[in-house]
Amino acid sequence: MSEPGDVAYFGGEFLPLDQARLPITTHAFNYGTGCFEGIRAYWNREQERLYVTRLREHALRILRSARILRLEPDPALTVERFSELVLELLARNGFEQDAYVRPIIYKAGHTIKVTLSGIPAELCMYAIPMGDYLDIHKGLRLATSSWRRIDDIAIPARAKPTGAYLNAALAADEARQQGCDEALMLTADGHVAEASSANLFAVIDGTLVTPPVSDDLLVGVTRDSVIAMARERGWPLEVRQLDRSEVLAADEAFLCGTGVQIAPVVEIDRRPLGDGHPGPITSELQGWYLRVVRGEVPDFAAWRSAVPTTAGATS
Ligand code: PMP
Repeated sequence: MSEPGDVAYFGGEFLPLDQARLPITTHAFNYGTGCFEGIRAYWNREQERLYVTRLREHALRILRSARILRLEPDPALTVERFSELVLELLARNGFEQDAYVRPIIYKAGHTIKVTLSGIPAELCMYAIPMGDYLDIHKGLRLATSSWRRIDDIAIPARAKPTGAYLNAALAADEARQQGCDEALMLTADGHVAEASSANLFAVIDGTLVTPPVSDDLLVGVTRDSVIAMARERGWPLEVRQLDRSEVLAADEAFLCGTGVQIAPVVEIDRRPLGDGHPGPITSELQGWYLRVVRGEVPDFAAWRSAVPTTAGATS
């Protein structure tokens, strides 16, 4: 069996990661003309199974992103085919731990021309072992970014374009330089959009509030999971425009995303949020979410795709 992360998908085949290399003339390297996904898989020790979280939704999103960005991948790359490839990549890597898959659809042509149509696109993927990349229990400190979230009329942020993550990197880096964990990003007209690479919810008077998809945010798969879980519990929920001052005065706030999972926010711009500790609704959602994705509870079974134990065979 190969070492975790040793197998990549590149040029239409599975091969050793160190052989997956691009020439510097590649269009996507020059202009950021690609889109990507981040997909998590959770290892259930008792069942000895690896479960991919919401694979179908990630497949739908990357294909939709490719359409928005005119990336034009092979039409044979359907939701089903993409999902099979992700499962096979994980199976071939033989992970027995939590892992993360990074698929990228990118313009693989070698023209210097700044355009999209007619340049061939390819899919590549790699996978890495990944536990919590931020401490999701102690609570995060956010800083409002001086960088505004990219407006949909500049770069369609909902398409998860590789190039647009310069905006996210500038914001996240600035927040870390200021001693905080993450950036709170506002839209060009000053409303709350999201964090640099996660969506945001506030809990205000017992109601979960999150900004609408038209406020320049990535339509997060985890955001959708949180909405479904809140509905299941019967908790009041509003999807509406949100001002920064409302978040400053909220009882609780949390970030959600594939990478960050569900992470409480305890401070914004050096002000404690609520009582400065992770709130009860956030903690309840976080615990439930982690049990769901790991397959420790039967709830939301459709969100979990089991990785086949024999490489090559997909179930
Ligand atoms: N917003 C941005 C900008 C992101 O990069 C991500 C991570 N993909 C998210 C939100 C969360 O999305 P998801 O829950 O689909 O991972």
